[in-house]
Amino acid sequence: MSLIAGNWKMYNGPVEAGELCRTLRKTDLPDGVEVIVCPPFVSLAESVQVLAGTEIGVFAQNCHWEAEGAFTGEVSAPMLKELGVYGTLVGHSERRQWFGETDDTVARRVYACLEAGLQVIACVGETEEQRDKGATHAVLRRQVAGFEADQNLVIAYEPVWAIGTGRTATPDMAQEAHETIKELLDVPMLYGGSVKPDNAAELLAQPAIDGALVGGASLEVDSFAAICRAAIR
Ligand code: PEP
Repeated sequence: MSLIAGNWKMYNGPVEAGELCRTLRKTDLPDGVEVIVCPPFVSLAESVQVLAGTEIGVFAQNCHWEAEGAFTGEVSAPMLKELGVYGTLVGHSERRQWFGETDDTVARRVYACLEAGLQVIACVGETEEQRDKGATHAVLRRQVAGFEADQNLVIAYEPVWAIGTGRTATPDMAQEAHETIKELLDVPMLYGGSVKPDNAAELLAQPAIDGALVGGASLEVDSFAAICRAAIR
């Protein structure tokens, strides 16, 4: 089964998220493709409510490793579960770049979320500088070193230089990176980085690519649904 996850980033407050989810509910999404949306924290409750009874899963964009405590601004796995959220992204490059997330804190979040019974999409990927230096595979190996295979773990390979830039890894580059990671961890893998309706099919046709993590193109139902259709195997 392929998996398409939409990362709404810091877009869509509760009102807009509710509207987008109502449109998604009415949209003909293909069978055999697992569809997930990742709204911001404040829009999770509304999204869970509107999508109740559908096959579309609601994930958070981040989650802390402790169940509760003095961690201002953070949200825990039990809190997400109480809302009816199925899983969470962890370690998105925007969190690593702007909010001090490290391989160590990402691994702690992944471990705690899996322990709590959430599904996890853990994000990894090299910067342009690291790729230019030929360090891509070493970086990916280091980033996944703290993870253990788990039936609820999915890894998203998102080259940082391709996120929100309109530049995409070639299918061969993505396939190669996925193979490197799959040698270490046998879990489903998503490609992310400027996936659009016109490039989704060739990326998703690669044997080591099990789905996509979609940012910008997930904010419009038409483009998101077109990517979901491109994932039919
Ligand atoms: C993302 O936010 O994970 C992402 C891949 O964004 P975009 O599709 O806009 O590059």
